[in-house]
Amino acid sequence: MDYDPDNIFAKILRGEIPATRVYEDDDTLAFMDIMPRADGHLLVIPKTPCRNLLDASPEQMAAVMQTVQKMGRAVMKAFDAQGVTVQQFNEAAGGQEVFHLHFHVLPRREGDRLRPPG
Ligand code: IMP
Repeated sequence: MDYDPDNIFAKILRGEIPATRVYEDDDTLAFMDIMPRADGHLLVIPKTPCRNLLDASPEQMAAVMQTVQKMGRAVMKAFDAQGVTVQQFNEAAGGQEVFHLHFHVLPRREGDRLRPPG
């Protein structure tokens, strides 16, 4: 699938634009979403090029999901959350805006509502 090496998350990976990085390992990076829909809303991405879930290798999926799990556990503690929503969008029709695979990790509390995007 098409992968634009100048997408905004590729630029974050290369250090060309700033991001609030919260976790990094050899294969993945987690950073805060710039327009958080919940306090503690963060994004997890693979370090290697990947357009979205439809394009991901088993290795990319395994690495990213391990980091999603770590970040889910971390935000439960850090934000005193009662639950975690994990979201992921594929292609424009599926709601994807940035075309580098990413998972949203959203700390939740009973009865809360996610803020609208933007
Ligand atoms: P999606 O592709 O629909 O999942 O939306 C992309 C997400 O990336 C949105 O939640 C944006 O707020 C977020 N986003 C866009 N640019 C940046 C950035 O430079 N830093 C952090 N998050 C970003």
